[in-house]
Amino acid sequence: MQEQENIQQDMEQRNSLVPRERGELILKEGIVSHSVAQNLIRDAMKGMTNAYAPYSHFTVGAALLTKKQKVYLGCNIENAAYGPTNCAERTALFKAVSEGEKEFSAIAIVGGKNGLITDYCPPCGVCRQVLREFADTKNFLVILARSEEDYVVFLLEELLPLSFGPEML
Ligand SMILES: [Zn+2]
Repeated sequence: MQEQENIQQDMEQRNSLVPRERGELILKEGIVSHSVAQNLIRDAMKGMTNAYAPYSHFTVGAALLTKKQKVYLGCNIENAAYGPTNCAERTALFKAVSEGEKEFSAIAIVGGKNGLITDYCPPCGVCRQVLREFADTKNFLVILARSEEDYVVFLLEELLPLSFGPEML
């Protein structure tokens, strides 16, 4: 009974923290709980502290969760030639894939000008496509956070509809 109440409380809390349909999505998929999302956001903030952004001063951090519950951090790494600049999401993904990981559950992303997070930081189109290569779009979750308490969750499919992927080749 106590457990039932705790679950109920947890559900209410989650639904008050994220848009209702997103909260239900998390509950339905059961991939990330509120505490897992919070941990991942905290990790993304940690990743952000290593961002190398001397040109834009827009620092980004990402934390990528594998299906085996391992977390890879990423940050944006700019370059004087601009073109070779790498985003935080791809840094995390490339680190993971280079370590043999190919199955992922979720990514948390934070970012802002001069290291200050003032709004959600959605992934660029290139990162959405690169994530698409390895992620199941109907289950992979993208968590955009302003803080550990203020975040929204999307399926990759929502951020990259009608996408082109490896199964088409
Ligand atoms: Zn990107």
